[in-house]
Amino acid sequence: MNQPRTLVNSPLARIARLVLGGAPRVAMVLGQTVHLSGATRAEFLADPEWVAHEEVHLRQVRDLGLARFLWQYLLESARVGYYQNKFEVEAREGARRFMEARARGQAEAWVA
Ligand SMILES: [Zn+2]
Repeated sequence: MNQPRTLVNSPLARIARLVLGGAPRVAMVLGQTVHLSGATRAEFLADPEWVAHEEVHLRQVRDLGLARFLWQYLLESARVGYYQNKFEVEAREGARRFMEARARGQAEAWVA
């Protein structure tokens, strides 16, 4: 897995933190950059499951384009909430598969 581009102390990620009820740390994908609030780049990169989760979101943005992704993401969130949002379900599942592949020493074969 290559290291994604990050922006630390992102004001937009900070807003997301507040919207999520003051979450201690938030990463959000905008374009092909992971915006962080409450975590340094080093802290983010030290958590492979978190990086894999955001890699799935980066791929979702590439698949849909940023505008469609954001619109559908907001619709999903309004309809079913954050946790059941299909983009979050897919990202959690992808990160889980990455951690399993990593435990088997096959992380290189993982596709977001
Ligand atoms: Zn997510």
